[in-house]
Amino acid sequence: MRNILRKSRRAIVKIKNSAMTRGIKNSNQRCHLIAGCLAGVFTKIFGVEVNCFETNCAAKGDPYCRFVVREVKVNGNL
Ligand SMILES: [Zn+2]
Repeated sequence: MRNILRKSRRAIVKIKNSAMTRGIKNSNQRCHLIAGCLAGVFTKIFGVEVNCFETNCAAKGDPYCRFVVREVKVNGNL
């Protein structure tokens, strides 16, 4: 984990050699399980509900998988 910003409740996580992508190249993103786990972990760390999106994936040929964690913003006008 490289960047965790507790105050703004954001984090960027990079994973090299993920077991989810090992041996897979030129495919669609595959790390939904990891993204879900990271969302759960950071919801606990930050104390608010967060989303986690994978922006880069080794399964697509990227050098590593990169995940962005952000606080879920609820629109008060709903
Ligand atoms: Zn991935």
